[in-house]
This record gives sequence, structure tokens and C-alpha cells, in this order.
Amino acid sequence: MDLDKLRKTAAEIVSRDDVKYLIGWRRGTFGYRVSPHFVRDAAGADELIFSPLCISNLANYLTLVEKLPVPRGQEPDTRKVALMVKGCDSRAVAQLLAEKGIKREEVVVVGLPCPGMIDRKLLAEKYPETEQAAEIRWRGEDFVLVDGEEETVIPRAEVLAEKCRLCRHPNPVLSDVTVGEPVEPWAAAEDSGVAEIMAKNAEERWAYWEEQFSKCIRCYSCKNACPLCYCEDCILDRLDPIWVNRSVNFSENTAFHLARAFHLAGRCIECGECERVCPAGIPLGKLNRMLAQTVREEYEFEPGLDPEAEPFQASYKPDDPEEFIL
Ligand code: SF4
Ligand code: SF4
Ligand code: SF4
Repeated sequence: MDLDKLRKTAAEIVSRDDVKYLIGWRRGTFGYRVSPHFVRDAAGADELIFSPLCISNLANYLTLVEKLPVPRGQEPDTRKVALMVKGCDSRAVAQLLAEKGIKREEVVVVGLPCPGMIDRKLLAEKYPETEQAAEIRWRGEDFVLVDGEEETVIPRAEVLAEKCRLCRHPNPVLSDVTVGEPVEPWAAAEDSGVAEIMAKNAEERWAYWEEQFSKCIRCYSCKNACPLCYCEDCILDRLDPIWVNRSVNFSENTAFHLARAFHLAGRCIECGECERVCPAGIPLGKLNRMLAQTVREEYEFEPGLDPEAEPFQASYKPDDPEEFIL
């Protein structure tokens, strides 16, 4: 990644009168960790990075921060927000545009072709002694951990995030400016996690999800991290009428997860954020990818590729395969 070019591009964007700020990543405060970064000037642009740890999908700021009510007496700041996006993140932007959750003229998209991200939990498990190292970079197909003069090569297959192993769209599907050269999708790998669940019969699947949903503490991190969970009035937060009780037990947890999964069917862009932030280790990625796979196979539809697409749940084709309907 040509960081100089990225920073120069960012500085030019934030110097525009019609841009409020640019959202990207910078080094965190501990070891190789990274954190989101709001860039407002050239000095801020100099702190930007793009590394194998920039896994978080920043697209949810477009709805999380930008849709907050404006305090009484203040005028809304209607300038554009610039956003750095990987392939999966750009699909979230495209899906938000398709749903009219945001308008195209409200955003400047900085596209970053993505060679794949590290699953930090795997990295800490396999290389616990390296957590204080300064930086991680891509090198060829692998990753390299840089600690002063010392470099440790980490084989890609050991720590690559599951979503990246399955990624079909590493290059941004839309952007106003792209920094970096297009990369080839690695994908092609079968989704073994989904295949394993699909191979189970109905009772076995129920037992599997019962075990998983029972672990949920209803912290709602999955919902908050998801770029496509942005309804102002969420059915899961409603108290009158109440659809899902606050009590944390298998029955209410299941109602929560099923409501969320079905609201995301044909909308989830498989960024994996829900699973990444879950403190209980629930494999939400498998659940959402199962639905995404069904939508691809039964309706030949993939969300987040076309910002002009009709929303999946609000449209149909007379020749939809729908083979599962008896
Ligand atoms: S899913 Fe694709 S675009 Fe997203 S981080 Fe992984 S490789 Fe990059
Ligand atoms: S993040 Fe995990 S524990 Fe929290 S509500 Fe979601 S599934 Fe449950
Ligand atoms: S449900 Fe999970 S994987 Fe799908 S868009 Fe939301 S956070 Fe990303």
C-alpha cells in the first residue's frame, strides 16, 4: 500500500469546502492495534494507515453518526462525509444507497483494493508474544510483523479472517477515487462453516443453534456494529407493543436472532462485523452467510453490488427459482 498516496489523496479531499471529514483508520494506542480515525485536516491525513488489521467496517458511521438528531438551535452540517472502504465495506455503502438509507451526493468513497485482513483473535492465540509489536504489513501472500529491526513472517493461512478466506469482492464495487491496484479474489474456497450446518438434519440444526443462542448475553454489539442495522425504530427496541422481551433466555434470544437474521436476508453483505464483535463467540457469520447463500442460489441475488438495485425483499422476478417452495 502506497501510504503517501493515500495520505495525499485524503488531505486533498478534506481540504474541499464541501467535505466535513474523512473516516479511515490510524494506529491504535497499544501495539499493532488500529482504531477508526476522523480526519479533518492535512495533519490528520498524515496519521492514516491501511494495514492487515483495518478489518472494521467503517460504513456504519454513515448511519450511526450522520443520522443523529441535530441539537435544538443548531443547523445540520450537510457537507459530504468521505469514507475509506475495502471491498466488503463498499458493498455496505452500495446497499445503503440501494435502500436510500444515504444519498450518493452525501458521500465521497475512497476505495482500497484489499489483499485480506487478519483475525486478531487468531493472531493473539497463535502469536501471543507479539501483541506489543509495532506494525503488521502485507508481504506477498503472507503477513509480516515488524518490531523494530525484527520481522516475523506470519503465513497467511494461519491468521486470515474467515470472511476474507471466502471473499468474492475484494475490490471496491464503487468509489470516487481508488488508491492501490486491483487484487484477485482469493475466494473459491467452499464455505465449510455453512456446508457443515447445511449437512445437519432439522433436529441437529436446532440443537446447534440452541447451544449457540443460549450463550447470547443480549449486549446488542452485533446489532450496533452492523452497517445495515440502522432502522430508527427497531422492532427489537420497542416496548409498546413489545415483540421481544428483555429477559436473557433461550426463547427471547432466539426471537432476537431470528428477527435480526430475517431482516438481513438479502441485505447482509457478509462483512463479518457482527461475529467479530460478539463477546460470546456466537458464529453469527455462519447464520448470515447461510441466508446469503440461499438468497444467491434461490433468487440469484447478491446485495451490495448495485446501488440502483431494487431491494430484494421488496421485489421479485417471475422466473425466481424458488425451488424450496413446495
Ligand atoms: S472480506 Fe474481502 S474486502 Fe473485506 S476485508 Fe476480507 S478480503 Fe478485504
Ligand atoms: S454480540 Fe453476541 S452476545 Fe451480544 S447480542 Fe449479539 S450475539 Fe448476543
Ligand atoms: S449481519 Fe453481520 S455480516 Fe451482515 S452486514 Fe451486518 S455485520 Fe456485516
